[in-house]
Amino acid sequence: MNFRRPSPTQEISFAGIKVTLKRDDLIHPDFSGNKARKLWHFLSHDQPGISRLVSQGSAQSNAMYSLSVLAKMRGWSFDYYVDHVASFLRENPHGNYAAALRNGMRIVKGGLPNRFDAETLFIPEGGACQEAATGIRMLAEELLAHFGETEVDIFLPSGTGTTAFFLQQYLPYRVVTTPCVGSPAYLRRQFEALSTADTAMPEIFESRKRYHFGKLYPDFFKIWVELKEETGVTFDLLYDPKGWITLLEHRVRFAPRICYIHQGGIMGNESMLRRYRRQQKLMDTERI
Ligand SMILES: *Cc1c(COP(=O)(O)O)cnc(C)c1O
Repeated sequence: MNFRRPSPTQEISFAGIKVTLKRDDLIHPDFSGNKARKLWHFLSHDQPGISRLVSQGSAQSNAMYSLSVLAKMRGWSFDYYVDHVASFLRENPHGNYAAALRNGMRIVKGGLPNRFDAETLFIPEGGACQEAATGIRMLAEELLAHFGETEVDIFLPSGTGTTAFFLQQYLPYRVVTTPCVGSPAYLRRQFEALSTADTAMPEIFESRKRYHFGKLYPDFFKIWVELKEETGVTFDLLYDPKGWITLLEHRVRFAPRICYIHQGGIMGNESMLRRYRRQQKLMDTERI
């Protein structure tokens, strides 16, 4: 397996602020950025006796796709539990969903069974487990090697909060994040669930406006396009717009040096762009 490590860093300037980008999106084309970090334990350690991988979540998630690659590489079957698959997606598979199906993922509708046999490896939704620490620690070491004694704030948008939580465990720098999936209170509960001792927690900044995960927002699309035009970098459409909006709104609270972790997710953009285009088309026809 060719993982690009350490992942590159890049200096960018956006909306008048200078930021060091940590390009975790370039680690591996098949592992969506931080999922390569979170799944590193399972990629680098043999799992004797395992023949089946089980997880759950949404039918378009980046984690789902990365898990399908892990299962394929290891020769395991992969059962993925979902609440539902949108009919449009079922009839027109694309993005993460189509790619995971091609890797042999089996979709199971409904709740998880209460117990699994000894041949089954269960990884919780979004890879939110203690094993994620192994790969995130490597990211922390790369950041330490790059920044050393310099005062720097590390910023990244959160889903389950696993990446932000473990980064803060291994770094002397301040880790700042914003919740993309739930409220700040939800994210704090996620941190507490991962914590085994009284430890430092990442700081949570919230945007003025509340956004719902997976919904389309004109300000999200706008900042995504502006980022691409001004920096030349393609960001993800689910997490990064909320991340950048929050970073810009709170810019005065940051240290002079900021490092933004680009956590990948580019494959998921395909389905988001389709939805934005469909919405745009609807809006155009309404205008006529
Ligand atoms: C999964 C993912 C996240 C969220 O990571 P957590 O560790 O769950 O907080 C953020 N950005 C991208 C692009 C992701 O794929």
